[in-house]
Amino acid sequence: MKTEAQHSAERDTGTLSTLNDDGSRKWLKPRVSPGRYLIKRRLFAWFLILIFTALPYITINSKPAVLLDILHREFTFFGMTFLPTDTLLLALFIVSVFITVFLMTALLGRVWCGWACPQTVYMEFVYRPIERFFTGVPGRKKNKLQAGPFGGVLKNVSYLLVSLFLAHTFLAYFVGIDSLIHWVGRSPLDHPTSFIVILFVTGMILFDFGIFREQMCIVACPYGRFQSVMLDRNSLIISYDPNRGEPRGRMRRAKKGSPTPVDLTVSAPPKEPELGDCIDCAMCVTTCPTGIDIRDGLQLECIGCAQCIDACDTIMDKVGRDRGLIRYSTQEAIDGKPTHLIRPRVIIYPLLLTLVLTLFVVVLVGKKPIDVTILREQGLPYVSNDDGSMITNNIKIKLVNRTPASTTFAVRIAGDPGASFVGTENGSLLIEADPREPVTQGVAIVTPREAFAAGKGMLEITFEIGNENLSVEQTYRLIGPRGSVSK
Ligand code: SF4
Ligand code: SF4
Repeated sequence: MKTEAQHSAERDTGTLSTLNDDGSRKWLKPRVSPGRYLIKRRLFAWFLILIFTALPYITINSKPAVLLDILHREFTFFGMTFLPTDTLLLALFIVSVFITVFLMTALLGRVWCGWACPQTVYMEFVYRPIERFFTGVPGRKKNKLQAGPFGGVLKNVSYLLVSLFLAHTFLAYFVGIDSLIHWVGRSPLDHPTSFIVILFVTGMILFDFGIFREQMCIVACPYGRFQSVMLDRNSLIISYDPNRGEPRGRMRRAKKGSPTPVDLTVSAPPKEPELGDCIDCAMCVTTCPTGIDIRDGLQLECIGCAQCIDACDTIMDKVGRDRGLIRYSTQEAIDGKPTHLIRPRVIIYPLLLTLVLTLFVVVLVGKKPIDVTILREQGLPYVSNDDGSMITNNIKIKLVNRTPASTTFAVRIAGDPGASFVGTENGSLLIEADPREPVTQGVAIVTPREAFAAGKGMLEITFEIGNENLSVEQTYRLIGPRGSVSK
Protein backbone atom coordinates (compact mmCIF):
# COMPACT_ATOMS: atom_id res chain seq x y z
CA MET A 1 0.00 0.00 0.00
CA LYS A 2 1.43 3.38 -0.96
CA THR A 3 2.11 6.03 1.62
CA GLU A 4 0.94 9.61 1.26
CA ALA A 5 4.54 10.57 0.50
CA GLN A 6 4.52 8.18 -2.43
CA HIS A 7 1.23 9.60 -3.68
CA SER A 8 2.66 13.08 -3.42
CA ALA A 9 5.78 12.04 -5.27
CA GLU A 10 3.63 10.61 -8.07
CA ARG A 11 1.59 13.78 -8.25
CA ASP A 12 4.73 15.87 -8.42
CA THR A 13 6.37 13.83 -11.17
CA GLY A 14 3.16 13.21 -13.08
CA THR A 15 3.71 9.44 -13.16
CA LEU A 16 0.98 7.47 -14.90
CA SER A 17 -1.03 5.34 -12.51
CA THR A 18 -0.40 2.25 -14.60
CA LEU A 19 3.37 2.61 -14.91
CA ASN A 20 5.98 1.22 -12.56
CA ASP A 21 9.00 3.33 -11.71
CA ASP A 22 11.06 1.52 -14.36
CA GLY A 23 8.46 2.36 -17.03
CA SER A 24 6.97 -1.13 -17.24
CA ARG A 25 3.22 -1.73 -17.20
CA LYS A 26 1.61 -1.99 -13.81
CA TRP A 27 -1.12 -4.61 -14.07
CA LEU A 28 -4.12 -3.49 -12.08
CA LYS A 29 -6.30 -5.87 -10.14
CA PRO A 30 -8.84 -3.55 -8.57
CA ARG A 31 -10.77 -4.73 -5.53
CA VAL A 32 -14.51 -5.01 -5.82
CA SER A 33 -16.23 -2.55 -3.51
CA PRO A 34 -19.82 -3.61 -2.96
CA GLY A 35 -22.18 -0.74 -2.41
CA ARG A 36 -25.22 1.11 -3.70
CA TYR A 37 -23.55 2.33 -6.89
CA LEU A 38 -22.08 -1.05 -7.76
CA ILE A 39 -25.54 -2.64 -7.51
CA LYS A 40 -27.08 0.01 -9.77
CA ARG A 41 -24.23 -0.09 -12.26
CA ARG A 42 -24.33 -3.87 -12.40
CA LEU A 43 -28.08 -3.88 -13.10
CA PHE A 44 -27.71 -1.19 -15.72
CA ALA A 45 -24.75 -2.99 -17.34
CA TRP A 46 -26.70 -6.24 -17.66
CA PHE A 47 -29.60 -4.32 -19.11
CA LEU A 48 -27.28 -2.85 -21.77
CA ILE A 49 -25.71 -6.24 -22.48
CA LEU A 50 -29.20 -7.69 -22.92
CA ILE A 51 -30.11 -4.96 -25.40
CA PHE A 52 -26.88 -5.41 -27.36
CA THR A 53 -27.39 -9.16 -27.54
CA ALA A 54 -31.12 -9.08 -28.35
CA LEU A 55 -31.25 -6.23 -30.85
CA PRO A 56 -30.02 -8.23 -33.89
CA TYR A 57 -32.95 -10.64 -33.39
CA ILE A 58 -35.60 -7.89 -33.36
CA THR A 59 -37.24 -6.96 -36.64
CA ILE A 60 -39.38 -3.96 -37.51
CA ASN A 61 -41.35 -4.05 -40.78
CA SER A 62 -39.56 -7.31 -41.61
CA LYS A 63 -36.15 -5.60 -41.41
CA PRO A 64 -33.66 -5.84 -38.53
CA ALA A 65 -34.15 -3.09 -35.97
CA VAL A 66 -30.54 -2.05 -36.53
CA LEU A 67 -28.59 -3.08 -39.63
CA LEU A 68 -25.40 -1.35 -40.77
CA ASP A 69 -25.13 -2.92 -44.21
CA ILE A 70 -21.82 -1.41 -45.31
CA LEU A 71 -21.57 -3.68 -48.36
CA HIS A 72 -24.81 -2.31 -49.82
CA ARG A 73 -24.32 1.11 -48.19
CA GLU A 74 -27.67 0.88 -46.46
CA PHE A 75 -28.22 1.71 -42.79
CA THR A 76 -31.42 0.79 -40.98
CA PHE A 77 -32.43 2.18 -37.60
CA PHE A 78 -35.76 1.15 -36.10
CA GLY A 79 -37.72 1.06 -39.34
CA MET A 80 -35.90 3.93 -41.09
CA THR A 81 -33.48 3.08 -43.88
CA PHE A 82 -30.76 5.51 -44.88
CA LEU A 83 -28.96 5.31 -48.21
CA PRO A 84 -25.70 6.85 -49.45
CA THR A 85 -27.77 9.71 -50.88
CA ASP A 86 -28.82 10.66 -47.32
CA THR A 87 -25.54 12.41 -46.58
CA LEU A 88 -27.28 15.46 -45.11
CA LEU A 89 -29.32 13.31 -42.74
CA LEU A 90 -26.22 11.42 -41.70
CA ALA A 91 -24.31 14.67 -41.11
CA LEU A 92 -27.17 16.08 -39.02
CA PHE A 93 -27.38 12.85 -37.04
CA ILE A 94 -23.64 12.90 -36.28
CA VAL A 95 -23.75 16.58 -35.28
CA SER A 96 -26.70 15.90 -32.96
CA VAL A 97 -24.77 13.03 -31.32
CA PHE A 98 -21.80 15.32 -30.70
CA ILE A 99 -23.95 18.08 -29.20
CA THR A 100 -25.72 15.53 -26.99
CA VAL A 101 -22.34 14.30 -25.74
CA PHE A 102 -21.23 17.88 -25.03
CA LEU A 103 -24.45 18.61 -23.14
CA MET A 104 -24.42 15.37 -21.19
CA THR A 105 -20.79 15.91 -20.18
CA ALA A 106 -21.39 19.54 -19.16
CA LEU A 107 -24.23 18.42 -16.90
CA LEU A 108 -23.28 14.94 -15.74
CA GLY A 109 -19.53 14.69 -16.33
CA ARG A 110 -18.27 11.24 -17.33
CA VAL A 111 -21.50 9.44 -16.58
CA TRP A 112 -21.25 7.76 -20.00
CA CYS A 113 -17.79 6.35 -19.21
CA GLY A 114 -18.70 5.02 -15.80
CA TRP A 115 -22.15 3.66 -16.53
CA ALA A 116 -22.74 2.95 -20.20
CA CYS A 117 -19.53 2.78 -22.26
CA PRO A 118 -19.07 -0.76 -23.65
CA GLN A 119 -15.44 -0.63 -22.54
CA THR A 120 -16.50 -0.20 -18.90
CA VAL A 121 -19.57 -2.42 -19.10
CA TYR A 122 -17.77 -5.46 -20.51
CA MET A 123 -14.51 -4.88 -18.63
CA GLU A 124 -16.04 -4.41 -15.18
CA PHE A 125 -19.08 -6.66 -15.43
CA VAL A 126 -17.95 -9.49 -17.69
CA TYR A 127 -14.18 -9.85 -18.02
CA ARG A 128 -13.10 -8.82 -14.53
CA PRO A 129 -15.72 -11.04 -12.83
CA ILE A 130 -14.44 -13.96 -14.94
CA GLU A 131 -10.91 -13.12 -13.92
CA ARG A 132 -11.84 -12.92 -10.25
CA PHE A 133 -13.78 -16.16 -10.42
CA PHE A 134 -10.87 -18.15 -11.85
CA THR A 135 -7.84 -16.37 -10.41
CA GLY A 136 -9.06 -14.92 -7.15
CA VAL A 137 -10.20 -11.69 -5.61
CA PRO A 138 -7.51 -9.25 -4.45
CA GLY A 139 -7.35 -9.21 -0.66
CA ARG A 140 -9.12 -12.56 -0.29
CA LYS A 141 -7.78 -16.09 0.14
CA LYS A 142 -7.76 -18.08 -3.10
CA ASN A 143 -9.70 -21.31 -3.34
CA LYS A 144 -8.21 -24.49 -4.80
CA LEU A 145 -9.09 -23.68 -8.38
CA GLN A 146 -7.75 -20.15 -8.15
CA ALA A 147 -4.51 -21.26 -6.51
CA GLY A 148 -3.95 -24.15 -8.93
CA PRO A 149 -2.54 -24.13 -12.45
CA PHE A 150 -5.90 -24.39 -14.21
CA GLY A 151 -7.41 -21.14 -12.98
CA GLY A 152 -5.50 -19.06 -15.51
CA VAL A 153 -6.20 -21.51 -18.34
CA LEU A 154 -9.93 -21.55 -17.64
CA LYS A 155 -9.93 -17.77 -17.43
CA ASN A 156 -8.38 -17.51 -20.89
CA VAL A 157 -10.73 -20.13 -22.35
CA SER A 158 -13.69 -18.19 -20.92
CA TYR A 159 -12.28 -14.95 -22.34
CA LEU A 160 -12.05 -16.60 -25.75
CA LEU A 161 -15.62 -17.93 -25.65
CA VAL A 162 -17.06 -14.61 -24.52
CA SER A 163 -15.03 -12.74 -27.14
CA LEU A 164 -16.24 -15.12 -29.87
CA PHE A 165 -19.82 -14.55 -28.77
CA LEU A 166 -19.36 -10.76 -28.72
CA ALA A 167 -17.66 -10.82 -32.13
CA HIS A 168 -20.55 -12.81 -33.66
CA THR A 169 -23.13 -10.49 -32.08
CA PHE A 170 -21.18 -7.49 -33.31
CA LEU A 171 -21.03 -8.90 -36.84
CA ALA A 172 -24.81 -9.50 -36.76
CA TYR A 173 -25.27 -5.72 -36.73
CA PHE A 174 -23.50 -5.56 -40.10
CA VAL A 175 -24.76 -8.62 -41.94
CA GLY A 176 -28.06 -9.44 -40.21
CA ILE A 177 -28.73 -12.36 -37.91
CA ASP A 178 -30.05 -14.59 -40.72
CA SER A 179 -26.79 -14.41 -42.68
CA LEU A 180 -24.83 -14.94 -39.50
CA ILE A 181 -26.77 -18.07 -38.52
CA HIS A 182 -26.40 -19.32 -42.10
CA TRP A 183 -22.63 -18.82 -41.95
CA VAL A 184 -22.23 -20.35 -38.51
CA GLY A 185 -23.82 -23.55 -39.77
CA ARG A 186 -21.41 -23.88 -42.71
CA SER A 187 -17.72 -24.41 -43.30
CA PRO A 188 -15.53 -21.29 -43.01
CA LEU A 189 -14.32 -22.09 -46.53
CA ASP A 190 -17.80 -21.17 -47.82
CA HIS A 191 -17.48 -17.65 -46.43
CA PRO A 192 -13.75 -16.97 -45.90
CA THR A 193 -14.09 -13.17 -45.72
CA SER A 194 -16.63 -13.18 -42.93
CA PHE A 195 -14.66 -15.89 -41.14
CA ILE A 196 -11.54 -13.71 -41.23
CA VAL A 197 -13.58 -10.74 -40.00
CA ILE A 198 -14.89 -12.79 -37.08
CA LEU A 199 -11.37 -13.94 -36.18
CA PHE A 200 -10.08 -10.38 -36.42
CA VAL A 201 -12.87 -8.91 -34.27
CA THR A 202 -12.47 -11.72 -31.71
CA GLY A 203 -8.74 -11.01 -31.58
CA MET A 204 -9.36 -7.28 -31.10
CA ILE A 205 -11.86 -7.91 -28.30
CA LEU A 206 -9.48 -10.34 -26.60
CA PHE A 207 -6.64 -7.88 -26.88
CA ASP A 208 -8.74 -5.00 -25.59
CA PHE A 209 -10.27 -6.73 -22.57
CA GLY A 210 -7.47 -9.17 -21.87
CA ILE A 211 -4.40 -6.98 -22.34
CA PHE A 212 -5.07 -3.35 -23.19
CA ARG A 213 -7.83 -2.91 -20.59
CA GLU A 214 -7.83 0.41 -18.73
CA GLN A 215 -5.27 1.78 -21.20
CA MET A 216 -8.15 2.25 -23.62
CA CYS A 217 -9.66 4.85 -21.24
CA ILE A 218 -6.35 6.36 -20.18
CA VAL A 219 -4.44 6.74 -23.43
CA ALA A 220 -6.59 5.76 -26.42
CA CYS A 221 -10.13 7.06 -26.06
CA PRO A 222 -10.53 10.56 -27.55
CA TYR A 223 -13.54 11.29 -25.34
CA GLY A 224 -11.33 11.20 -22.24
CA ARG A 225 -8.90 13.63 -23.90
CA PHE A 226 -11.64 16.22 -24.39
CA GLN A 227 -12.83 16.20 -20.79
CA SER A 228 -11.02 19.37 -19.81
CA VAL A 229 -12.88 21.43 -22.41
CA MET A 230 -16.26 19.77 -21.96
CA LEU A 231 -16.40 19.94 -18.16
CA ASP A 232 -16.67 23.09 -16.08
CA ARG A 233 -16.67 23.74 -12.37
CA ASN A 234 -20.43 23.19 -12.20
CA SER A 235 -20.39 19.77 -13.90
CA LEU A 236 -21.18 16.68 -11.89
CA ILE A 237 -18.00 14.78 -11.05
CA ILE A 238 -16.87 12.24 -8.51
CA SER A 239 -14.80 14.10 -5.99
CA TYR A 240 -13.02 13.68 -2.73
CA ASP A 241 -13.84 16.40 -0.20
CA PRO A 242 -10.47 17.65 1.04
CA ASN A 243 -12.10 20.14 3.42
CA ARG A 244 -13.56 17.22 5.30
CA GLY A 245 -10.89 14.61 4.68
CA GLU A 246 -7.67 16.54 5.25
CA PRO A 247 -5.33 16.31 6.96
CA ARG A 248 -5.64 12.62 6.38
CA GLY A 249 -4.08 10.16 8.75
CA ARG A 250 -4.22 6.66 10.07
CA MET A 251 -6.43 5.86 13.01
CA ARG A 252 -5.01 4.28 16.09
CA ARG A 253 -3.45 0.90 15.51
CA ALA A 254 -5.25 -2.33 16.12
CA LYS A 255 -3.90 -4.66 18.73
CA LYS A 256 -0.40 -5.86 18.16
CA GLY A 257 0.03 -8.46 15.44
CA SER A 258 -3.10 -7.46 13.52
CA PRO A 259 -2.54 -7.71 9.74
CA THR A 260 -4.51 -4.52 9.11
CA PRO A 261 -3.12 -1.14 10.10
CA VAL A 262 -6.54 0.04 11.18
CA ASP A 263 -8.90 -1.67 13.54
CA LEU A 264 -12.02 -1.30 11.45
CA THR A 265 -14.00 -3.53 13.74
CA VAL A 266 -14.06 -0.89 16.46
CA SER A 267 -17.33 0.95 16.27
CA ALA A 268 -16.94 4.72 16.19
CA PRO A 269 -13.39 4.76 17.54
CA PRO A 270 -12.14 8.01 19.00
CA LYS A 271 -10.98 10.42 16.33
CA GLU A 272 -7.71 12.27 16.53
CA PRO A 273 -8.78 15.91 16.91
CA GLU A 274 -6.24 17.30 14.46
CA LEU A 275 -7.03 14.84 11.66
CA GLY A 276 -9.70 14.96 8.97
CA ASP A 277 -12.10 12.14 8.12
CA CYS A 278 -9.81 10.37 5.64
CA ILE A 279 -8.08 7.58 7.51
CA ASP A 280 -5.67 7.04 4.61
CA CYS A 281 -6.72 3.42 4.20
CA ALA A 282 -6.26 3.66 0.39
CA MET A 283 -9.36 1.58 -0.26
CA CYS A 284 -10.44 4.19 -2.81
CA VAL A 285 -7.13 3.66 -4.63
CA THR A 286 -7.07 -0.13 -4.59
CA THR A 287 -10.62 -0.30 -5.96
CA CYS A 288 -10.02 2.16 -8.78
CA PRO A 289 -10.05 0.44 -12.20
CA THR A 290 -7.66 3.04 -13.60
CA GLY A 291 -5.38 2.97 -10.56
CA ILE A 292 -5.62 6.63 -9.63
CA ASP A 293 -6.01 8.31 -6.28
CA ILE A 294 -9.17 10.40 -6.34
CA ARG A 295 -7.77 12.42 -3.44
CA ASP A 296 -5.35 14.03 -5.90
CA GLY A 297 -8.31 15.90 -7.42
CA LEU A 298 -10.10 15.66 -10.76
CA GLN A 299 -8.01 13.61 -13.15
CA LEU A 300 -8.26 12.73 -16.79
CA GLU A 301 -8.00 9.02 -15.92
CA CYS A 302 -11.12 9.07 -13.73
CA ILE A 303 -13.90 7.34 -15.64
CA GLY A 304 -16.54 8.20 -13.05
CA CYS A 305 -17.25 4.60 -12.10
CA ALA A 306 -18.14 5.46 -8.47
CA GLN A 307 -16.22 2.47 -7.10
CA CYS A 308 -14.25 4.80 -4.84
CA ILE A 309 -17.53 6.17 -3.44
CA ASP A 310 -18.70 2.69 -2.49
CA ALA A 311 -15.26 1.84 -1.06
CA CYS A 312 -15.07 4.99 1.03
CA ASP A 313 -18.69 4.81 2.19
CA THR A 314 -18.00 1.31 3.50
CA ILE A 315 -14.99 2.58 5.38
CA MET A 316 -16.92 5.55 6.77
CA ASP A 317 -19.66 3.18 7.96
CA LYS A 318 -17.07 1.04 9.69
CA VAL A 319 -15.38 3.93 11.48
CA GLY A 320 -18.69 5.57 12.37
CA ARG A 321 -18.36 8.68 10.27
CA ASP A 322 -20.75 10.22 7.78
CA ARG A 323 -20.78 8.83 4.26
CA GLY A 324 -19.90 11.05 1.33
CA LEU A 325 -16.24 11.86 1.90
CA ILE A 326 -16.00 10.85 -1.75
CA ARG A 327 -19.24 11.66 -3.55
CA TYR A 328 -20.95 12.90 -6.68
CA SER A 329 -20.54 16.66 -6.49
CA THR A 330 -19.23 19.64 -8.43
CA GLN A 331 -15.96 21.46 -8.10
CA GLU A 332 -17.86 24.54 -6.95
CA ALA A 333 -19.76 22.61 -4.28
CA ILE A 334 -16.56 20.98 -3.02
CA ASP A 335 -15.09 24.49 -2.66
CA GLY A 336 -18.16 25.53 -0.66
CA LYS A 337 -19.62 27.67 -3.43
CA PRO A 338 -23.11 27.38 -4.97
CA THR A 339 -23.46 25.16 -8.06
CA HIS A 340 -25.06 26.85 -11.06
CA LEU A 341 -27.20 24.52 -13.09
CA ILE A 342 -28.07 27.22 -15.62
CA ARG A 343 -25.00 28.50 -17.41
CA PRO A 344 -24.19 29.50 -21.01
CA ARG A 345 -23.18 26.08 -22.34
CA VAL A 346 -26.23 24.44 -20.75
CA ILE A 347 -28.43 26.89 -22.66
CA ILE A 348 -26.52 26.94 -25.97
CA TYR A 349 -26.19 23.15 -26.38
CA PRO A 350 -29.94 22.39 -26.06
CA LEU A 351 -30.75 25.25 -28.44
CA LEU A 352 -28.29 23.91 -30.99
CA LEU A 353 -29.58 20.39 -30.48
CA THR A 354 -33.17 21.50 -31.02
CA LEU A 355 -32.15 23.29 -34.21
CA VAL A 356 -30.25 20.30 -35.60
CA LEU A 357 -32.99 17.81 -34.69
CA THR A 358 -35.64 20.06 -36.25
CA LEU A 359 -33.60 20.20 -39.45
CA PHE A 360 -33.21 16.44 -39.33
CA VAL A 361 -36.96 15.91 -39.06
CA VAL A 362 -37.68 18.45 -41.83
CA VAL A 363 -35.21 16.76 -44.21
CA LEU A 364 -36.50 13.31 -43.26
CA VAL A 365 -40.15 14.21 -43.80
CA GLY A 366 -39.29 15.94 -47.10
CA LYS A 367 -37.54 12.85 -48.47
CA LYS A 368 -38.99 11.80 -51.82
CA PRO A 369 -39.62 8.15 -52.73
CA ILE A 370 -37.02 8.43 -55.49
CA ASP A 371 -33.60 10.04 -55.24
CA VAL A 372 -32.68 11.58 -58.58
CA THR A 373 -29.24 12.86 -59.51
CA ILE A 374 -28.54 14.18 -63.00
CA LEU A 375 -24.93 14.43 -64.09
CA ARG A 376 -23.23 15.59 -67.25
CA GLU A 377 -21.28 12.89 -69.12
CA GLN A 378 -17.54 13.32 -69.32
CA GLY A 379 -16.13 14.98 -72.41
CA LEU A 380 -17.48 17.92 -74.42
CA PRO A 381 -20.29 19.91 -72.74
CA TYR A 382 -22.37 19.62 -75.92
CA VAL A 383 -22.11 18.43 -79.52
CA SER A 384 -23.48 20.22 -82.64
CA ASN A 385 -24.64 18.47 -85.76
CA ASP A 386 -22.99 19.27 -89.13
CA ASP A 387 -24.95 22.42 -89.88
CA GLY A 388 -25.00 23.54 -86.23
CA SER A 389 -28.79 23.58 -86.01
CA MET A 390 -29.18 20.83 -83.40
CA ILE A 391 -27.35 20.56 -80.07
CA THR A 392 -26.86 17.32 -78.19
CA ASN A 393 -26.20 17.09 -74.43
CA ASN A 394 -25.09 13.72 -73.05
CA ILE A 395 -26.20 13.18 -69.49
CA LYS A 396 -26.48 10.42 -66.85
CA ILE A 397 -29.62 9.97 -64.79
CA LYS A 398 -29.00 8.23 -61.48
CA LEU A 399 -32.05 6.92 -59.60
CA VAL A 400 -32.40 5.33 -56.20
CA ASN A 401 -35.75 3.67 -55.69
CA ARG A 402 -36.63 4.14 -51.99
CA THR A 403 -39.92 2.24 -52.28
CA PRO A 404 -39.99 -1.41 -51.15
CA ALA A 405 -40.82 -2.83 -54.63
CA SER A 406 -39.02 -3.01 -57.98
CA THR A 407 -40.47 -0.35 -60.26
CA THR A 408 -40.13 0.97 -63.77
CA PHE A 409 -39.91 4.72 -63.71
CA ALA A 410 -40.74 6.87 -66.72
CA VAL A 411 -38.58 9.96 -67.21
CA ARG A 412 -40.16 12.76 -69.32
CA ILE A 413 -39.17 16.27 -70.19
CA ALA A 414 -41.94 18.51 -68.89
CA GLY A 415 -43.53 21.29 -70.93
CA ASP A 416 -42.36 21.99 -74.45
CA PRO A 417 -38.83 23.38 -74.28
CA GLY A 418 -37.95 21.85 -77.64
CA ALA A 419 -35.63 19.29 -76.06
CA SER A 420 -36.23 15.56 -76.47
CA PHE A 421 -34.53 12.27 -75.64
CA VAL A 422 -32.70 10.54 -78.49
CA GLY A 423 -33.88 7.01 -79.28
CA THR A 424 -36.87 6.71 -76.91
CA GLU A 425 -40.49 5.85 -77.61
CA ASN A 426 -43.25 8.35 -76.78
CA GLY A 427 -40.64 10.80 -75.54
CA SER A 428 -40.19 8.85 -72.30
CA LEU A 429 -37.10 7.16 -71.02
CA LEU A 430 -37.89 4.03 -68.99
CA ILE A 431 -35.61 3.06 -66.11
CA GLU A 432 -36.06 -0.10 -64.06
CA ALA A 433 -34.97 0.18 -60.45
CA ASP A 434 -34.85 -2.42 -57.68
CA PRO A 435 -35.49 -1.26 -54.14
CA ARG A 436 -32.62 0.81 -52.77
CA GLU A 437 -30.30 -0.26 -55.61
CA PRO A 438 -28.80 2.79 -57.35
CA VAL A 439 -29.25 2.59 -61.13
CA THR A 440 -27.57 4.91 -63.61
CA GLN A 441 -28.64 5.35 -67.23
CA GLY A 442 -26.96 7.48 -69.88
CA VAL A 443 -29.08 9.34 -72.42
CA ALA A 444 -28.65 12.00 -75.10
CA ILE A 445 -30.93 15.05 -75.29
CA VAL A 446 -31.20 16.87 -78.57
CA THR A 447 -32.36 20.49 -78.73
CA PRO A 448 -32.68 23.05 -81.58
CA ARG A 449 -29.98 25.66 -81.35
CA GLU A 450 -32.54 28.49 -81.23
CA ALA A 451 -33.66 27.28 -77.82
CA PHE A 452 -30.37 28.46 -76.34
CA ALA A 453 -30.42 31.90 -77.96
CA ALA A 454 -32.25 33.67 -75.16
CA GLY A 455 -30.57 31.80 -72.34
CA LYS A 456 -26.96 32.84 -72.83
CA GLY A 457 -25.94 29.30 -73.77
CA MET A 458 -28.15 27.62 -71.14
CA LEU A 459 -31.59 26.08 -71.27
CA GLU A 460 -33.32 25.03 -68.07
CA ILE A 461 -35.58 22.03 -68.46
CA THR A 462 -37.59 20.01 -65.93
CA PHE A 463 -37.61 16.22 -65.76
CA GLU A 464 -40.69 14.45 -64.47
CA ILE A 465 -39.79 11.06 -63.01
CA GLY A 466 -42.33 8.63 -61.67
CA ASN A 467 -44.91 5.92 -62.23
CA GLU A 468 -48.68 5.70 -61.81
CA ASN A 469 -48.36 6.20 -58.03
CA LEU A 470 -45.76 8.87 -57.60
CA SER A 471 -43.94 11.62 -59.40
CA VAL A 472 -40.99 13.87 -58.62
CA GLU A 473 -39.53 16.76 -60.58
CA GLN A 474 -35.93 17.72 -61.10
CA THR A 475 -34.60 20.70 -63.01
CA TYR A 476 -31.45 20.61 -65.12
CA ARG A 477 -29.56 23.07 -67.32
CA LEU A 478 -28.65 22.01 -70.82
CA ILE A 479 -25.63 23.69 -72.33
CA GLY A 480 -25.46 25.06 -75.89
CA PRO A 481 -23.79 27.80 -77.94
CA ARG A 482 -24.64 31.46 -77.35
CA GLY A 483 -26.51 33.39 -80.02
CA SER A 484 -28.59 32.10 -82.96
CA VAL A 485 -27.28 29.90 -85.74
CA SER A 486 -25.56 31.73 -88.60
CA LYS A 487 -27.07 30.90 -92.01
S1 SF4 B 1 -11.36 5.20 1.07
FE1 SF4 B 1 -11.98 7.13 2.05
S2 SF4 B 1 -10.94 7.02 4.00
FE2 SF4 B 1 -9.92 5.50 2.76
S3 SF4 B 1 -8.22 6.60 1.83
FE3 SF4 B 1 -9.92 6.78 0.41
S4 SF4 B 1 -10.86 8.74 0.95
FE4 SF4 B 1 -9.57 8.15 2.69
S1 SF4 C 1 -11.28 7.70 -9.14
FE1 SF4 C 1 -13.14 6.69 -8.43
S2 SF4 C 1 -14.69 7.17 -9.96
FE2 SF4 C 1 -12.68 7.67 -10.84
S3 SF4 C 1 -12.14 5.83 -11.99
FE3 SF4 C 1 -11.21 5.65 -9.94
S4 SF4 C 1 -12.72 4.53 -8.74
FE4 SF4 C 1 -13.77 5.22 -10.56
